[in-house]
Order: sequence, then C-alpha cells, then structure tokens
Amino acid sequence: MALLEEPIKEVKVLKNYIGGEWVESKGEIVDVVNPATMKTIAKVPISTKEEFDAAVEAAKAAFPDWRRTTPLARSRILFRFKQLLEENFEKASRIQTQEHGKTIDESRGETRRGIENVEVACGIPTLMQGYISEDIAHGIDEWCMPTPLGVFGIIGPFNFPWMIPLWSAPYAVATGNTIIIKPSSEVPNSQSFLAELAEEAGFPPGVWNVVHGGRTVVNAMLEHPDIKGVTFVGSTPVGRDVIYRKCGETGKRVIAQCGAKNFMTIMPDCAVDNTIASMMTSFFGNTGQRCLAAANAVIVGEDDDFYNEFVKKVVEAASKIKIGYGLDESVQMGPLRDPAKKQNVVKYIEIGLEEGANLLLDGRKFTIQGDYPDDCFIGPTIFENVRPDSRLGSEEIFGPVMSIMRVKDLDEAIRITNANAFGNGHSIFTQSGAAARYYQYNVESGNVGINIGITAPVAFFPFGGMKDSFFGILHTQGKEAIRFFTESKVVIQRWF
Ligand code: NAD
Repeated sequence: MALLEEPIKEVKVLKNYIGGEWVESKGEIVDVVNPATMKTIAKVPISTKEEFDAAVEAAKAAFPDWRRTTPLARSRILFRFKQLLEENFEKASRIQTQEHGKTIDESRGETRRGIENVEVACGIPTLMQGYISEDIAHGIDEWCMPTPLGVFGIIGPFNFPWMIPLWSAPYAVATGNTIIIKPSSEVPNSQSFLAELAEEAGFPPGVWNVVHGGRTVVNAMLEHPDIKGVTFVGSTPVGRDVIYRKCGETGKRVIAQCGAKNFMTIMPDCAVDNTIASMMTSFFGNTGQRCLAAANAVIVGEDDDFYNEFVKKVVEAASKIKIGYGLDESVQMGPLRDPAKKQNVVKYIEIGLEEGANLLLDGRKFTIQGDYPDDCFIGPTIFENVRPDSRLGSEEIFGPVMSIMRVKDLDEAIRITNANAFGNGHSIFTQSGAAARYYQYNVESGNVGINIGITAPVAFFPFGGMKDSFFGILHTQGKEAIRFFTESKVVIQRWF
C-alpha cells in the first residue's frame, strides 16, 4: 500500500510571527497530535502576555504606513497572496487534514472557502468607498468615509484551522488595519503556514502577525488598550462570558460567533434521496465538528410508512460511511480532533440512553481498520424518539450524532426549533415553496437552508447567527466585515 505521507523526520517547534520576524516563544511548549495516527506532528508554544504585547507594539508601529498605503496598492498585495494560496492549495489542505483529522476533500473545501474571502477583499478600492451629499444646507457638503482603526485581534477555533481566521483577516488588512491572529493551539500549523504565505506576498512587517497560545494570550488581547476590536469564533461559554463581556468592559468592538444545535426539518414531500445525501454530509461531515452541522432531524407528518422507510434509509446510508485517515482519498469521515472530544461524544450517547432515546446506530461499536489507534475514531450514531428538551436533543455535542424527532406538522417543527437556545444554521427539506417560505420567515436562525444541509454563506454574504450562537451586531465576511473593520468618519464642510 502506498504511503499516505512521508514519516516526520524532525518535529518542529512553531514560532510566533511578529513584526515580520519568526520569533521563538519562551512559553510552555505542547504537542500538536495528528488524531488519526496519534503521532506528534509539531510543537506549539503557549505564548506569554509579554510576547503578545510585543506583537501589539509591532502591529501598532506598522499601522500608520499601512493606512497610508493606497487601497489599490493594498489590493495588489492581496492579489499576490491569493495567487500564493492557489499555488499552495494542496499543501494547505494536507496540513488541515493532518492536524484536524477531516478528510482531504473536506480540507480542500475549507481551503477554497478561505481563499474566496481573499478574493472578495481584493475589491477593497470600491468596497471601501464612502458617500457624499452636496448642499445638506446652503453651501455645506457632508460625506462619510470609512477609515481603519488600528490593531485588531482574531481568535480562531479548532474546527476550521485555515478558513475561519480568513473570515476576518483579509478584510481587516484590506481596510488598512493591522492584525494579530491567535489560532487554536490544537491546530496551529495552518495559521503558521498562512503567515508564511502572507510574508511572501509582501505584507509589510507588522501588518500580519501570529501569536500562538491559549487563554493568556486571549486575556492579554481583551485587556490591551491598543487592541481596537476582536473577532472570535468558538464556543458559547467563552464567546459570551469571556469575549463579549470583556470587550464591553474595555470598550472594544466585537464579533463573537459561537456554538450551535442545528435542527433540520424534513417534510414528507421532500426529495428523499437528495435529502438523505445532504443529511449524510450535514450530520457526519467534518465528523460532526461544524457549527453548521445538523444535529436534530425533525421528521414532519403522521404517515408511519413514510417515517419508517425514511429512517431505515438514513440508517443504511450512515452505516456505509467509510471512516479512516483523511489523507486516504476514499475515506468519507475522519476521527474526532482528540480523545477528550471522543469521550464527550461517548458521554452524550450514554446520556441519550439514560434519557430513554432509542439507539438505532451505535458509533461506539465501530472499529477502525488498518494500523490506526482508535483514540479519536467513532462511527456515526443515530437516535430516535429524542425529546427536544432533553440534554441529547438540546445541547451542543459537536460530534457525529443524529437525534431524530417526530412532529405532527410544520408549526410544531418550527416551535421546537425556536425553543432551542441556539440559532445558527437551521434548514428545511421540502418541494413546497409555500412551506419553505413559511419556514424561512418564522425560524429563528442566522443562516437558513432550503434543501441545503450546510448553510455556510459564501464570502460575499455575512456569516449569520442568532440567540446563543452570536454576540455582536456586524458579522464576518463581505460588506459587513468591511464595516466592522472601519470607523464611519463624517465630515461636514463649508467654505467662506
Ligand atoms: P473554544 O471556545 O474552546 O475555543 C475558541 C478559542 O478560544 C481558542 O482559540 C481557544 O484557545 C480560546 N479559548 C478557549 N477557552 C478560553 C478561555 N477560557 N478564555 C479565553 N480564551 C479561551 O472553541 P473550540 O472548541 O475551539 O471550537 C468549537 C466551538 O466553536 C463550537 O462550539 C462551535 O459551534 C463553535 N464554532 C462556531 C462557529 C460559528 O461561526 N458560529 C464556527 C466554528 C465553530
């Protein structure tokens, strides 16, 4: 059998990228482990407050010149960056699979979606234009011009190590700000590689910085008076209780995209085979570790024959998913990110059984083929008779677990969906335009899918989120990101 990857000869300790230099950290060093092989693939520093402060100094020093660089010139660097990302597409995708565990095709999708944000930000000369009114009073003109603010912090989660910082970073630098990215320390390689490409693209020293670490760096970011704003993507307890709260206290603008529990409503008139294909990628793609992964399948109607036949087909399809190391092109589902995340999924399966749900497919029974440790692997799991207010039916699990619920009509489906605390990516599968419109109008969700299982907005639309899934006003991506990263300065002019 051909080797999927070269054996690692030397495990490198990642450096921070500060002021255009690759700097060794004095912080504690921890292993980055490939969850499929359980081999250490890199070491990452947990940087100190002082190291973060040094990055702020560098970013602050770079800001005046970068602000003065014309939008057209900034956009030329972004075009070079985009070209380098394309040239390194496959390498970037492999890094994601190795550090996160997702399949190589899922990583390619992630790489592409990340690049698309750079492409959109390339349009900054027109995206950043302001507006003007002549004669708001006799002989007086007034205009509004978006201006950059200074240094921004970008905090990433573990589940999309490459793409998620790119929901913010290209817009932040395109608008003339400077940035410090704090990747998840579980998956730091992607952002180190991205910073190498940013350096090669020609961003001046201090414009694009990366500081590895954990909560010490985050807290330093939230406290630092020269950090003008923060974008955060991660769990609700951290996003709401740490990031949003602290940014309020310290007067920083903030986007906090948080956790989810997504409901997929399935109408009896849905296109069955297409719906089931979408369900497989939505519930089990990325091993369920997506904020837009469906978690609850709400099947509408009182037709027992439809229900039984549909559920049988769902279980059959899930049982056929090929699980393994994501670098193998034939694999359809990789491992969870680490053993603790697997244990968390196992815990929720036990909770589901205690709560009286009916286990139709038990992912714990899966055994990995080939020479791989089973620390992080688990199979797709399907429960039915799940109560929406149970822990299994209401809490974010972040793993490949489907909870099936049955309701009598669309109103009941919407009612139980809206009763959940989260509102990130709910969807409906139906052939009825009227049902789809009724659903889209009434469902409380920042992203809504109509016959779409993963409701991920493209780069020129904002990434939504409601209720416990989002804290803030403006969103990442596209025009809203441009607004977030700029101050609307209004000038009123009169000449005597
Ligand atoms: P997490 O909240 O544990 O970590 C996110 C980031 O915050 C990391 O960089 C981490 O180092 C840092 N952090 C963690 N605990 C902290 C603390 N106590 N103080 C300060 N900083 C802290 O999230 P995660 O496990 O990396 O990511 C999974 C979560 O992200 C899920 O809840 C998922 O739904 C959510 N997510 C949301 C979106 C979205 O767009 N809404 C997208 C992807 C992931």
